[in-house]
Amino acid sequence: MIIAIDGPAGAGKSTVARAVARELGLLFLDTGAMYRAVTWAALQRDVDVHAADKMGELARSLRLEFDAEGRIVIDGVPGEPHIRSSAVTHNVSYVAAHSAVRAALVPQQRRFAHPHGIVAEGRDMGTVVFPHADLKVFLIATVGERARRRAAEIGAPDAVERIRAEIERRDHLDATRDDAPLLKADDAKELITDGLTPRQVVDTLVALARAAKADPVQHGR
Ligand code: C5P
Repeated sequence: MIIAIDGPAGAGKSTVARAVARELGLLFLDTGAMYRAVTWAALQRDVDVHAADKMGELARSLRLEFDAEGRIVIDGVPGEPHIRSSAVTHNVSYVAAHSAVRAALVPQQRRFAHPHGIVAEGRDMGTVVFPHADLKVFLIATVGERARRRAAEIGAPDAVERIRAEIERRDHLDATRDDAPLLKADDAKELITDGLTPRQVVDTLVALARAAKADPVQHGR
């Protein structure tokens, strides 16, 4: 079974997707980590993140794998925590906007889905990468809530405003690019997570997944 989870930055997609995958015995795929990995490698090697050709070449040259916990490994080197740095976060949307980069990563993302089922999260899982997913979910929350959650997560309550500005900037870049913009698929179920705990979101998604599996026709498959 393929479950596609999309949504804006900081909507809690990773936390929720990881837990849903564990409960349903499926593989968890964090596609944002792949774009972050390419961005991190570019910053390391002084490759201009705005140079489409060079970035495409770099994306094609990297060996991206995931360990048993679903954490990315880049050419044999653990990507965490480097790929979460503010420099990577600041530049990743420029990198993800290059079609050459997406063309290098999307086939790899599809390959991860075989032969096991998968819970994949990102921006274009339901629209581009897995258009025939058994279940598509678009997670949203107000930007204020997303910034507060992220600040609490990193233990920096004073940073809410800075995080909010960065989230808004990234969402804007991701939603306005030409190739695979951040977009809810027509057949995705939208879930507003303001005021919900991660547990409540996970339970909702697991129930939706079980319903989709039991009755694929009802879910448009
Ligand atoms: O999910 P995360 O915030 O780690 O994603 C980092 C960035 O990677 C996003 O802001 C977006 O630019 C890019 N991305 C993407 N397509 C995906 C997943 C992430 O363009 N499927």
